[in-house]
Amino acid sequence: MISSKVKILGMVILLFIAAGIGLFYWNNSSSKVDPSLNQPVTQTLFKFDTVINLKIYGDDESANHLKKIEQMLDDVDQQINMSNKDSEIHAINEAAGKKAVKVSQGTFDLMKLSVDYAEDTQGAFDPSIGPLVSLWKIGNGGEHVPDANLINQAKSLVNYKDIIMDEANLTIKLAKEGMSLDLGGIGKGYAADLVANYLHDVQVESAIIDLGGSSIIAIGRKPNGEQWRIGLQDPDRARGEQLALIQLDNETIDSSGVYERFFMENGVRYHHILDPKTGFPTKNGLKSVTIIGGTATDADVLSTAVVVMDLEEGMAYMNQKQNVEAMFITEDNRIYLTSGLKGKINLTNERYTLVE
Ligand code: AMP
Ligand code: MG
Repeated sequence: MISSKVKILGMVILLFIAAGIGLFYWNNSSSKVDPSLNQPVTQTLFKFDTVINLKIYGDDESANHLKKIEQMLDDVDQQINMSNKDSEIHAINEAAGKKAVKVSQGTFDLMKLSVDYAEDTQGAFDPSIGPLVSLWKIGNGGEHVPDANLINQAKSLVNYKDIIMDEANLTIKLAKEGMSLDLGGIGKGYAADLVANYLHDVQVESAIIDLGGSSIIAIGRKPNGEQWRIGLQDPDRARGEQLALIQLDNETIDSSGVYERFFMENGVRYHHILDPKTGFPTKNGLKSVTIIGGTATDADVLSTAVVVMDLEEGMAYMNQKQNVEAMFITEDNRIYLTSGLKGKINLTNERYTLVE
């Protein structure tokens, strides 16, 4: 999803697990507590240019679960990582304007969802953003603002309506040569959901899945019965400096922001979330958007899409969605919440103001 290791080194981890580990395992169904269950197994992986942190509380099987999860994440890489030359998305991009490419059901369904979201957000989220992402190369080092002609040319190739999907034959074709898909705005959430579904299937009741510090699923509660505490990173400060604390159980949280990957030119910040309408990084007064609720796939798309909208449009869009909430941070350090989040965000940093 992110195409260079340099980016990872420079990557600002947006969200971090602020919680300590519970002292004992909480088990609703039995009063007998097995002390061996208190220890989590943890693993850090690096897949599709994303740092993945997993923490599972469970039993002797937990280490096996981690192995299976690693295999699943490798499969995701083969499906949707466009910088992996063997992936299905790469094959679709290579065949742009020429032929339809047969894909797996998982890739087809994810693309279908991406196109549905593109329609729903009126193109704010557009999975055919590839030509603009390749042109700007944000986070790759040595970036500069591209020539206006090149921006216009790339922009003319970005249009989700030119993604031709054949459900009966499970094929995808990009209508024009030069088009390309980029699932960087949805892939981490998709992968997090696959991991969470697996852990639910094997009845793990307490776990944290953290992809890239931006897509997090909290499964159940901490073994001691407390909610997971997620610290929201201050976008302007070094990692670990917190802006707010959010308590979650069995919930998804996903953040997107204009500070995650960027370069500066003539005092202007050019970041990695691109507006398909202008061909430029968004510039609308929003610094970041955090989505809470829904699947991680939904939350990942929504946080990217809403950063492309402005505060007013994004707030109206999110307010009509059921069971998914949003927190907006504006350039002037004001925090706005959808109605369902009121009273749930514990602001811990005086540089920011919560607008009631
Ligand atoms: P996220 O960090 O989830 O907000 O995703 C950002 C990534 O999504 C970028 O690095 C691009 O790969 C991709 N992207 C950028 N702009 C858009 C957009 N308007 N629609 C869909 N994907 C985008
Ligand atoms: Mg996203």
